[in-house]
Amino acid sequence: MRSDHSHSMKLVILGRDGTLNEYRDDHVKSVDELVPVPGALEAVARLNHAGWHTVMATNQPGIGRGLLDMVSLNAIHIRLNQLLAEKGGRLAAAFFCPHTPEEGCECRKPLPGLVQQIGERFGVELSSIHMVGASLRDLQTAQAAGCVPHLIRGARLGALDDEQLASLLALVPGAKVHASLGAFAESLIQKERRSKADARGEALAPDTAPGALN
Ligand SMILES: [Zn+2]
Repeated sequence: MRSDHSHSMKLVILGRDGTLNEYRDDHVKSVDELVPVPGALEAVARLNHAGWHTVMATNQPGIGRGLLDMVSLNAIHIRLNQLLAEKGGRLAAAFFCPHTPEEGCECRKPLPGLVQQIGERFGVELSSIHMVGASLRDLQTAQAAGCVPHLIRGARLGALDDEQLASLLALVPGAKVHASLGAFAESLIQKERRSKADARGEALAPDTAPGALN
């Protein structure tokens, strides 16, 4: 029952590990192991200040494997929001899949279940949602859900050479690559400014010209 989605909120879905906090092979199991990616929390705040709501979508199979419990996961997400608040940012919600791959659920990325839940919760058309993550799985999730896919070439993918990255991106046509979450935020905000200016038929000020970015 979607009514007037011209008023629908501006929504960005963020991956967690490797996007907001540093990825760990052995899972972030406690608050002490939560280490923000440099600049990432500031980028979320910048998006929020520009009117974008930010929601996290993360696979947490450590729950299903018994490596951490719900109390610990909640504590980690509360801590993440505290750190964000210090930068002036906020996650509107944290959606997670607690299952292991073997459980065959519908919410584990790259399946679109979590993203569909988010779209329903916030009443937002999936095609209007920008989804950003640090792994091929995040791109595939965005693709499966019909969102706009963005990739952060951070620590997890920084080791890929251009050819490897190109072959990865060939799997998800239309995906945009950014050096950091900050670069993603900047590009989204500038793109919106340009399209608003275009809609008004205005010329852009020189400091917002595409060539001046980054
Ligand atoms: Zn699941």
